[in-house]
Amino acid sequence: MRDAVIIGAGVAGIYMLYRLRELGLDTTTLDTAGGPGGTWYWNRYPGARFDSESYSYGYSFSKEILEEWSWSEHFSGQPETLRYLEYVVDKLDLRPHMQFGCQVKSAHFDSSETCWNVEMEDGRREKARFLFTALGILSAATLPRIEGRDDYEGEAFHTYLWPRDHEVELEGRRVAVIGTGATGVQVIQTIAPQVDELVVFQRRPNWCAPLHNAPIDDETQTRIKGSYDQIFGRMAETHGSFLHGADPRSYHDVSEAERLELWEKNYASPGFGVWLANFAEVFLEPEANQAYSKFIADKIRGRVDDPETAEKLIPRDHGFGMQRVPLETKYYEAYNYDHVRLVDASQTPIVRITREGIQTSEEEFEFDLIIYATGFDAFTGSYDRIDIRGVDGKRLAEKWADGPISYLGTHIAGFPNMFMLAGPQSASAASNFPPSIEVGVDWAARFVEFMQSKGITRVEASDAAEGAWTKDIMAAYEGTYFAKAKSWFSGYNSNVDGHDKLRHVMFLGGAPAYRARLTEVADAGYEGFELE
Ligand SMILES: Cc1cc2nc3c(=O)[nH]c(=O)nc-3n(C[C@H](O)[C@H](O)[C@H](O)COP(=O)(O)OP(=O)(O)OC[C@H]3O[C@@H](n4cnc5c(N)ncnc54)[C@H](O)[C@@H]3O)c2cc1C
Repeated sequence: MRDAVIIGAGVAGIYMLYRLRELGLDTTTLDTAGGPGGTWYWNRYPGARFDSESYSYGYSFSKEILEEWSWSEHFSGQPETLRYLEYVVDKLDLRPHMQFGCQVKSAHFDSSETCWNVEMEDGRREKARFLFTALGILSAATLPRIEGRDDYEGEAFHTYLWPRDHEVELEGRRVAVIGTGATGVQVIQTIAPQVDELVVFQRRPNWCAPLHNAPIDDETQTRIKGSYDQIFGRMAETHGSFLHGADPRSYHDVSEAERLELWEKNYASPGFGVWLANFAEVFLEPEANQAYSKFIADKIRGRVDDPETAEKLIPRDHGFGMQRVPLETKYYEAYNYDHVRLVDASQTPIVRITREGIQTSEEEFEFDLIIYATGFDAFTGSYDRIDIRGVDGKRLAEKWADGPISYLGTHIAGFPNMFMLAGPQSASAASNFPPSIEVGVDWAARFVEFMQSKGITRVEASDAAEGAWTKDIMAAYEGTYFAKAKSWFSGYNSNVDGHDKLRHVMFLGGAPAYRARLTEVADAGYEGFELE
């Protein structure tokens, strides 16, 4: 029997493997993918790139890695991020402890031996004291429920499953993109200048804002490398572990001219400042949110030539910032090309996919390529796809039928020795992922070390601790815009059965509060856990 099995070789799985190896644990990491990288292994669609500043995304734990690795752009693209994660894996000599091409189909806890039995689709098996789930919360792709999908005779891909073995031809082709979330926006703006004809099917628009990406010149590179302590110090203070934190002033204490000055500055600045470096009231008070939403709506109107198209691109069902804000590069200008057209699928819904293309309630289109930018069964999808069973064969899918329940977003009562990394009800999704992942992994490693030192072989969250944590998570959603928005931040996905309702998937209290709570629990000798 091994000490540990990690499922997932993304940012979380890689770092957990490193920490467990350092603790001397016999560990193997399993991944369906053909190599490490997780998100950055899979998402190879045109235009896939960071919304986080590259140098805020890399691991902070190794000064040597920080010194050796040079990001080429402020917001690097997928190929570079994949290269970075491969470099980290090789630098830390982790590859010999990873198995690829193995999809885990079941993980069952065995109470008699206090271990997890893990089985893969190809029949391989692993047995270990600890199970670490680094499955990703955006790693279960969902296709839309549209009749006739299998009838289509042209090429069609979900963005997550973009081909790895060949270049997809774009030039001279008639292309459809279904979906206008963060991924759809990146695809549309990238392929619009290349294709012959592009039709975008939009069910609900998102509020998007400029990324302002640029290459990193040598001087800036030196400055970044010389200031990592300050960069990570700043990130540790902000609500979302980004470089951008809320403006300290109150919306009500400044004049309209001062508000506009901040908003114009943020709109012209790189990254998530346009969302996060705002007055707190913009996300708490309807009047402030409406004022800011109008400011952004006017920007959209100013960038799209056709007024009718501009109005279709402005969200009406939620205010700015209530859902994940896609950052863009000339996204709105893409609609100014004569060969790009926006179809409002809320007005003229897609009725079916045909052999040649797409049929809406009004028109029939022919395409050479259909791109499904339809996102993920977020948070719990990858968990639901594995038959996970705890004490007495209890199924996790059943326990989570109405949404995730956990203690600290790391443990689940009834599922001993299972550590979730960057999973549901942790702070990861509400933040720049890697800093929160590092917090979670460091905490898990400290817990394992504690168990080793005390000779503890079994750990389980108590029902009481789990109940209290989940109640707090639910209370935090109450009365917020998040609770009302039909977004993956609130567990919504109309393409998944039972997910067309609010599910309490995320810790909303911010990264610093999450970190403090984890530390408090550890300092108190792991209160809320039963240790044997
Ligand atoms: C297009 C895109 C852009 C993003 N941009 C940003 C950004 O700019 N900033 C940011 O902070 N975050 C971003 N994210 C979020 C991103 O997911 C995280 O930053 C981070 O990569 C998550 O790492 P992870 O290790 O938790 O999960 P993942 O990277 O998702 O890795 C999970 C791994 O688990 C494997 N797995 C799952 N189920 C099984 C199974 N049953 N058997 C075997 N293996 C399995 C998967 O194959 C996958 O490789 C982005 C996400 C997407 C999709």
